[in-house]
Amino acid sequence: MKGELLAQLGREMRGTLLFDEPMALHTALKVGGPADYFAVPADLAELQRLVTVLVASDIPYLLIGGGYNLLVRDGGFRGVVISLEALCSIDSTGDSLIIAGAGASNRALADYALKHSLSGIEFLAGIPGSLGGAVAMNAGAGGEAIADRLEMLTTLDNGAVTVTSKEKLCFGYRFLQLDPGEIIIGASLRLEPGSRSEIAVNIEAFMDQRRSSQQVGYPSAGSFFKNPPGKGAWRLIDEAGLRGYRVGGAQVSEVHANFLVNRGGAKAADFIAVADYIKQVVWKEAAVLLEEEVKIVGEN
Ligand SMILES: Cc1cc2nc3c(=O)[nH]c(=O)nc-3n(C[C@H](O)[C@H](O)[C@H](O)COP(=O)(O)OP(=O)(O)OC[C@H]3O[C@@H](n4cnc5c(N)ncnc54)[C@H](O)[C@@H]3O)c2cc1C
Repeated sequence: MKGELLAQLGREMRGTLLFDEPMALHTALKVGGPADYFAVPADLAELQRLVTVLVASDIPYLLIGGGYNLLVRDGGFRGVVISLEALCSIDSTGDSLIIAGAGASNRALADYALKHSLSGIEFLAGIPGSLGGAVAMNAGAGGEAIADRLEMLTTLDNGAVTVTSKEKLCFGYRFLQLDPGEIIIGASLRLEPGSRSEIAVNIEAFMDQRRSSQQVGYPSAGSFFKNPPGKGAWRLIDEAGLRGYRVGGAQVSEVHANFLVNRGGAKAADFIAVADYIKQVVWKEAAVLLEEEVKIVGEN
């Protein structure tokens, strides 16, 4: 019944609706079983219609950006994974405000800012993913985070398009509080006029820093654990002697101890086993409970 409903919806969509779609194809870790459906709405109206049907039919959904911070379990996702890659517009109001859709990539945003001599999101250039994922994660680097630049957030909440000013949002370190089912559809970012050459130099400095510390050579989701207050997760993992620790195809990177990498053929269960072991050993050795930064979703 629900399958028929979705098949009908798929026929009416201008965007795409894929069935039984392997999530390994959509995540940076290259693992994850199939989503029952994978939807790419063509525009906001189509997204609204899709979500209205899903809510009315009690079908779960999950938003995905670039999948750079997502670990989908091997059983996949029972419901609809929704990508907003078509909502990727980027505009400027001419007063240093950039307005963009959730599907715009971080790199495209940084390039747009550079082209318009706007400074403040150079750090985004090296963070893989989309604006939606960056805001949902409060992504950041080098002491800066996207919340610092956010002015207004536009979401789809309970079927209504809602615009909320930053002051009314609850952000933290790699955290934004959203209502259950709330979808980020766009945001405006307040930047500052700057010199194009200086902005380009800043972007290069961020990229250089990454090249020197994060070239791990295998698929990863970046930092797997959040840094506990005052400590680097990588250092705790390193001091616990876990660099190189491996289960199946998942391994603690030899290059960066907070990156878990897919050495080939890994299962989601391998990553979860490595992560659980790290938490256990770091707790025993340093009495620190590490918390995953990577979002773990789906069925075993
Ligand atoms: C090599 C590498 C380096 C990295 N370096 C950094 C770094 O320096 N700093 C940093 O902060 N992160 C870093 N990351 C992690 C990742 O790039 C960020 O978390 C990024 O913001 C994820 O964006 P995404 O679009 O891929 O989101 P996804 O991974 O697809 O999703 C992340 C979370 O956001 C939710 N979400 C996505 N879109 C929406 C939406 N439209 N509405 C509501 N919820 C949504 C998802 O459901 C999920 O819970 C790195 C990752 C890699 C692979």
